[in-house]
Amino acid sequence: HGPAHQWFDGILHGSQPVQRRAMAKAITLLESTRADHRAQGDALLTALLPHTGQAFRLGISGVPGVGKSTFIEALGLFLIAKGHRVAVLTVDPSSTVSGGSILGDKTRMEQLSMREEAYIRPSPSGGTLGGVAEKTREAMLVCEAAGYDVVVVETVGVGQSEIAVAGMTDMFVLLQLPNAGDDLQAIKKGVMEIADLVAINKADIDKNAATRAQAQITSSLRLLGMHGNPDHATHGALWQPRVVQISALLGEGVDGFWDAVTQFRTQQTDNGRLALRREKQSLAWMWERIDAGLKQAFRQHPAVRGLLPTLQADVAAGRVAASTAARSLLAAQGTNHSL
Ligand code: GDP
Repeated sequence: HGPAHQWFDGILHGSQPVQRRAMAKAITLLESTRADHRAQGDALLTALLPHTGQAFRLGISGVPGVGKSTFIEALGLFLIAKGHRVAVLTVDPSSTVSGGSILGDKTRMEQLSMREEAYIRPSPSGGTLGGVAEKTREAMLVCEAAGYDVVVVETVGVGQSEIAVAGMTDMFVLLQLPNAGDDLQAIKKGVMEIADLVAINKADIDKNAATRAQAQITSSLRLLGMHGNPDHATHGALWQPRVVQISALLGEGVDGFWDAVTQFRTQQTDNGRLALRREKQSLAWMWERIDAGLKQAFRQHPAVRGLLPTLQADVAAGRVAASTAARSLLAAQGTNHSL
């Protein structure tokens, strides 16, 4: 029994302070890049895996200031009152890129963080978005094994983080402001097409604007739906992405929001899409990590490192064709391919 197993028991059966500590220790272990930690972490994950998967995984995104933390706090407290246990994880690539974090600095979700039934963990930092997303995925499994039955994964509307979060959750929610034109940004970035639900927040400020935005986004979603979202368009009952109005600040619309989530979950469970989505996500994730791992190993290969500077310069200057350089580098590393 290594330390991984000690945490295993704490995660599964620990009473509150013991469980919390075991979860934190396990997540820290999983975030470590040391090879021996990684091996222990993988053993722990394998042990935990049969105890995961029961939770509903909810992704929430929206630009900074839209009201994500206010809403997640309201939703979390609402769910706790209904008897749920809620984990909140974040994917914040800004903590990687700039060293500063969009989501993490201020004290967020103060009331929720004081509740025993809530577990809040800030975004891992450092590394690529893929690396950050991997750690969040693994933290999600720890939370599920510990019996948290709703896992919220929050992300900011920057970069590719929404795609990463949609790729690890059962349902993807976009928070929007009631400004006309706000939705155009989301459409341009391709975020609107992956939304299963859009919630227009701050409806208390301007009810009319919120209602206009609701109508506008509903018709945008209908147009996007005609192109067919593979996660929605299938046989059986189709999920039509919804648009709801909320006021996170006043706690209004949270019940309607949760109704929509519950309907989505029921429908996607009954028509088999939920299981299929998770299956696809796991396999896509495996290949994503293989790609990342191979690329890293490739870059670290001594022969590649020796050749790379010259060949890069040659390609940049137009002396060697890009594909020729790629083949030479792959051959140097021992891969003879014929793409
Ligand atoms: P985040 O950056 O998306 O996490 O946004 P915050 O939750 O920090 O909210 C940004 C600001 O908007 C804060 O000052 C909140 O009090 C305010 N806010 C959030 N939700 C609402 C709402 O429903 N109505 C109003 N009027 N203000 C809100």
